[in-house]
Order: sequence, then C-alpha cells, then structure tokens
Amino acid sequence: MSRGAETVTAAPVFILLGPPGAGKGTQAKLLEERFGLVQLSTGDLLRAAVREGTEAGRKAQAVMEAGGLVPDEIVLAVLADRLSRPDVQRGVILDGFPRTAGQAEALDRLLVGSGQKIDAAVSLEVDDAAMVGRISGRCTCAACGEGYHDTFKQPSRAGVCDRCGGSEFTRRADDRAETVAERLKAYHAQTAPLIAYYEGRGVLERVDAMGEIPAIAAQLGAIVKRATA
Ligand code: AMP
Repeated sequence: MSRGAETVTAAPVFILLGPPGAGKGTQAKLLEERFGLVQLSTGDLLRAAVREGTEAGRKAQAVMEAGGLVPDEIVLAVLADRLSRPDVQRGVILDGFPRTAGQAEALDRLLVGSGQKIDAAVSLEVDDAAMVGRISGRCTCAACGEGYHDTFKQPSRAGVCDRCGGSEFTRRADDRAETVAERLKAYHAQTAPLIAYYEGRGVLERVDAMGEIPAIAAQLGAIVKRATA
C-alpha cells in the first residue's frame, strides 16, 4: 500500500471500460495514487514490448499503428507476465483490458485460479464525437509518463512537467485522427459488448465521463470504496 493511500480490502479487481479518449489512463493513475491499487494498462505493456523489440512487441506493432486490436494470445501473454510480479497483490485497475469477449473469459478463468473476483467494471460513458479532439491533444512527459492535454490539462509552467520537472513531451503514434477513427470502430465492434456482459454479471457501474477530471475521479473513488467496504 503506498504511503498516504486510503485502505481497501485485499486484492480487489476493477475494470475501466470506455472508448479511446474516455480517460481510462488518467483515472486509473488517480485511483492508483489514492488507493494504492496497481494500474495495469495493456496498451502501456504492449508499447513497452514494442520499444524493447520483444517477440510480442514485433507482432503487435503494425496492428497498433493501424488502430486495430492485437490478437488475444499476445495481449494475454504480456498481461500474464505482468501479473506474475508481486505488487499486483495490492489489487489492480485494469485499464484497456479486457477488450474482447475472449479476453473477458480468459480474465474470468485467471481470477477463478487466484480466488479473486471482479469488484466493479466501470463504463466511462462519453460522446464519440468529442473523442477525436480529446485524443489528438494528448501528450506525455518523456521522463516520468505523466499525461497532459493541450486544452484540458496543461502543466502549471508551460513546457515543464509538474511531477518531475522534465521538459520533453511525446505524442503517441496512434493518436492521429485517422487512427483514432479505427480505434473507435474496434471499440464499438469488439469492446462495447462487454458492457452488457458485465451488466449481466451484476458488477457494472456507469459513470458519465464527459465532465471535469476531478469530478469523475470522485465518482470512481466512491465506487472503489463502496465495492471494497
Ligand atoms: P491503449 O493504450 O489502451 O489505447 O491501447 C493502445 C493500442 O494497444 C490499442 O489501440 C490496441 O492496438 C492495443 N491494445 C491495448 N490493449 C489491448 C487489448 N486488451 N486487446 C487488444 N489490443 C490492445
């Protein structure tokens, strides 16, 4: 449990569902800081695999650049590797996973094996039309990974990261408008059906994610507290 974090019961599992640009990564980081949970972003894991030139990374790269979904077996392999590290025993926020019915079923099997359950699957609900603007303004501090946005979240000193003082920022290759359109298509075809899947399981929570970051974070915090009370 990180210092100053509020306490939650052992090894909870939260899922953040939502299209690209809904704020999954931003909100997962805030929950990580507040509750000491571990953010598990399959997008981050895959980007790291691409950077490191691993076999999984080499297979995933072209699909990611085109805005498609990486095959389940590759995603599950990078996730299983990450889940073997002991810090996940603090509990996890799955950010960008599962994205297909096959991944959701694989997650169920993994959790049966570890005696865990899904505490809540939160659907971050947004208007598609606003997503391209949200995504194309995104950038990240190259040194510490803190996320910013040209309009919605600028650093307090222009060009200087609030968290680490870094002055180099990067933009994701797949945040171009045409790739975003493909990513939205993949979301609606393959991931949005999981909302009904988790609703049927009685673990779905819907959050209006068009508002301000702190207001959305407060709603998510209440869900975590309620689910782990
Ligand atoms: P993200 O950082 O979550 O927006 O993911 C970036 C890209 O990584 C996606 O557009 C997909 O190509 C790939 N990706 C991330 N997570 C998954 C997943 N669970 N299943 C398939 N592809 C994924």
